Amino acid sequence: MLSGRALALVILAWSLVKVLFARLGGRKTGLALFHDNYDADRLPPLTAGEREELTSFSSCIACGRCDAGEAERIAASRGAYPGLMAVVLASARSMPDFDAAALALRHVPDEVLEQKEAICPTGVPFRAIARFIRAKADFIAAADGNALPRRHLPLAATSGGAAMALGQPAQGEG
Ligand code: SF4
Repeated sequence: MLSGRALALVILAWSLVKVLFARLGGRKTGLALFHDNYDADRLPPLTAGEREELTSFSSCIACGRCDAGEAERIAASRGAYPGLMAVVLASARSMPDFDAAALALRHVPDEVLEQKEAICPTGVPFRAIARFIRAKADFIAAADGNALPRRHLPLAATSGGAAMALGQPAQGEG
């Protein structure tokens, strides 16, 4: 009776043979099968580069420094944007909910994300996280059949909305 490494090798070899025969027979495997299995769960595939990048997304120590100065943007978002720490610690870790995360990030200009990178003690790459979330949110929207991803819709009118979009405090606020 086989056991340990020998058994593992036999199982791997058998699986390889099955996959090769499945491909020869025209059955879906690999990425096509991944889409069949996971598109309905709103889980897009990752590229090799994204897989490498992901390791840098999880270094947050919940110090809260990136939330300093975000009160006005949080209030103006009317519940869509909970602050950067929550985006990094929660929203960015649940891919099926990336459409909501992308909506939250619409309230934070890239210049602000760049400034936050300079003050984050663990070097969380806010702009890379935002790019990743937006790209996957678009993918999910396309898979869902939405012609226009919601994150591309204009921001809801808020008092001082234009100023907020530029990362400036709104007039008469604060
Ligand atoms: S500043 Fe960096 S470490 Fe601190 S809460 Fe924000 S993302 Fe996390």
